[in-house]
Amino acid sequence: MQLQSMYQQIILDHYKHPQGKGLRTPFVTEVHHVNPTCGDEITLRVNGDEHSGFHISYENQGCSISQASASVMFDLIDGTPYAEAMKVADAFMEMMQSQGAGEPDEELLEDAAAFHGVAKFPARVKCALLGWMAYKDAASAAIAHAQVSGEDGSR
Ligand code: ZN
Repeated sequence: MQLQSMYQQIILDHYKHPQGKGLRTPFVTEVHHVNPTCGDEITLRVNGDEHSGFHISYENQGCSISQASASVMFDLIDGTPYAEAMKVADAFMEMMQSQGAGEPDEELLEDAAAFHGVAKFPARVKCALLGWMAYKDAASAAIAHAQVSGEDGSR
């Protein structure tokens, strides 16, 4: 099987069988992100803390790229300590901004490497990034929340 069609199959599989979809309680923070150019929307919640890892739940609608990307993200970073999760998220964001140059780090990105080809289409990049940006936003808000309420033990 050609690499490109293998990648397309991964995206299609996640679109048809989204991992972790559905909003769950309890949660620490909730964010709502939209991609107006395509009409994609995601509501994403995190629960837990940065050290033991944030558990993600989400509800989304929109194109196959945005939905598959959120599912891949859930598989890769749900319940992962924040620093580890952001290593993957940063690598993904970098790949999506590469305009399709270079080779994806498949060891780090796993199924998310399938979006490498999408980076060539500027209009779809925001679709692929939507869920990841929502995670980053929700997680950093949860970290700020923990600091304000002194739950990190720094007070
Ligand atoms: Zn889209």
